Amino acid sequence: MNAQSVITATGSPIVPFTGGWRLEHTYARLPAGFFASVSPTPVSSPRLVLLNRPLAEELGLDPTVLAQSESAAWFAGNVLSPGAFPIAQAYSGHQYGNFVRLGDGRAILLGEQITPRGERFDIQLKGPGPTPYSRRGDGRAALGPMLREYIISEAMHALGIPTTRSLAVAATREPVFRETTLPGAILTRTAASHLRVGTVEWAASTGEIENLRSLADYTLQRHYPELTKVEQPYVALLEAVLQRQAALIARWQHVGFVHGVMNTDNMALSGETIDYGPCAFMDAYHPATVFSSIDHHGRYAYANQPKIAHWNISRLASAMLPLLHTNEEEAVAVANGVLKSFPEIFRTHWLAGLRAKLGLFYEEPGDIELAENLFTIMQEQGADFTNTFRDLSGEVMTNIELAAHAEFRAWHTRWQERLGRQLQNRDEARALMRRHNPAFIPRNHKVEEALAAATSHGDLSELEKLLDVIAQPFAYDRQLPDFSTPPAPDAPVYRTFCGT
Ligand code: AMP
Ligand code: MG
Repeated sequence: MNAQSVITATGSPIVPFTGGWRLEHTYARLPAGFFASVSPTPVSSPRLVLLNRPLAEELGLDPTVLAQSESAAWFAGNVLSPGAFPIAQAYSGHQYGNFVRLGDGRAILLGEQITPRGERFDIQLKGPGPTPYSRRGDGRAALGPMLREYIISEAMHALGIPTTRSLAVAATREPVFRETTLPGAILTRTAASHLRVGTVEWAASTGEIENLRSLADYTLQRHYPELTKVEQPYVALLEAVLQRQAALIARWQHVGFVHGVMNTDNMALSGETIDYGPCAFMDAYHPATVFSSIDHHGRYAYANQPKIAHWNISRLASAMLPLLHTNEEEAVAVANGVLKSFPEIFRTHWLAGLRAKLGLFYEEPGDIELAENLFTIMQEQGADFTNTFRDLSGEVMTNIELAAHAEFRAWHTRWQERLGRQLQNRDEARALMRRHNPAFIPRNHKVEEALAAATSHGDLSELEKLLDVIAQPFAYDRQLPDFSTPPAPDAPVYRTFCGT
């Protein structure tokens, strides 16, 4: 694009038409093999569908410039933003337990944006055409799944859960061919990085310890700089990733989020939630909840997520063995020493969050039982996960049936007694709960309605309304029954599909 000039929204003087990009690409300094240079495949007439203005501002980008129709060319990969160096990243991973070589088959990393606060975020296009890792795939993405990733990742962000984010969706106005023909789109995704457990598995699979070391050093520098100076930085790195993942999965459990495809290539070393495919928020509480149409055995069911995270971290440990000790047996002992801490660390995070959800300010030995009894009742009654906690955080129970249920009433009395033993009064407890129990989540049926309107006739009004609601998940003062009512009990079972 030729250099042009525009007036910014703030009325400041004319600035060069760059939008504020300040891209670097430290990842591309890793040894050859970690990536392949590849250019996005241009599309004929891209159009910007969604732009995340607050995120643009946080990144130091000018939303007014980005919103101009010419900018669709950046978000489609037709024109590269200043300083971009497009690459596809190499990685491997365990998919449903089996090791596979993967890599960015439909994503291109443009670079790392340096924000005005000096932070560094990957800028990645998802769906910009084939890469050397595409195998038989077309490297493209459909509009529906990209809008879906936008919605869910922004919901997670608003809930305060670490996540990659969505800066923009551009329609390619070219078809993609799946089971049916669908409109194509490209998502611009931002991330603390796209380093995955699978990236380390790839490095290990090359058999070159130098690759492993370069990647571990790079990861430490980028995400855990405080650990570069400790005595055993690689052991510390493994511990740190384990801790962030334990904390992350606990957060998912607290809001009923089911990732759906927790393969090791979909687990970020930064501790962010990444790769929104068949994910969804649970309506009625059930530990075996699965949404993904291909997860036949429930490997990635709600209640399995902590166990799977632990297993994934053990794959990371296994890939890192040569870095943990020069002697293999010793290395295994070190790895096992770290790995065995996962259940307890997870449980600590999980319990801390549950206490906040129940308005409890400090620990008592019976807390776990109190929480688990509630979950049992919720499961038996098919109670909505979000709304049960939302009800408990309010003054009256809107779920009249649950409120009248004898076991629930007995539980409620015990809970009230427990609250009564605290120094904090009920208002303080309620305030704590209202900071931890969302009033609004992206309800599956609302997401589907919004996507249907957007993809079938380009009507974005529902989608924009939904984005507005999920941007303030804890807004208890908003009365939006349409967005908080669970689906009818006889509604069809919600199914999700991998986002290709
Ligand atoms: P995912 O299920 O999104 O985590 O993707 C698993 C692997 O399949 C990754 O290596 C993706 O890059 C690749 N992949 C998914 N969809 C496509 C596509 N349409 N074209 C090429 N590669 C793809
Ligand atoms: Mg993936």
